[in-house]
Amino acid sequence: MSSASILTQHGIKPSLTRMMIYDCLKESNSHPNVEEIYRHLVNQIPTLSKTTVYNTLHLFTEKQIARVVMLKDQENRYDLAGHPHAHFQCLVCHQVYDAELPEESHVPRGFQSFKIVDRSVLFTGTCERCLNP
Ligand SMILES: [Zn+2]
Ligand SMILES: [Zn+2]
Repeated sequence: MSSASILTQHGIKPSLTRMMIYDCLKESNSHPNVEEIYRHLVNQIPTLSKTTVYNTLHLFTEKQIARVVMLKDQENRYDLAGHPHAHFQCLVCHQVYDAELPEESHVPRGFQSFKIVDRSVLFTGTCERCLNP
């Protein structure tokens, strides 16, 4: 499906900037923050501002096509909303890894009568590459 139709489906008017920000998130495996997306696109869209990037990402999360990734970071990082997955953040190289959540349907006791809309699982430690350089 094209980015334009995904945006339209979620009630977002598919402007060129929005489509490019969406594609940037889709192509990136690095959970970019506002600054990184801005730097990646500003050559192609000279009129782009960080505020536009921030507002667009905010709109994407509101419409649930993107989500904020909770990391041990000062800045929000973003992921496309697909299915929820776990993150591992290496405390040495700061690389962020994705992994499948073991049981997507598992709801911890105590939350079972709640309506869950998203989940966020973060592991931290030392990644394999840093353990065996
Ligand atoms: Zn590492
Ligand atoms: Zn992720």
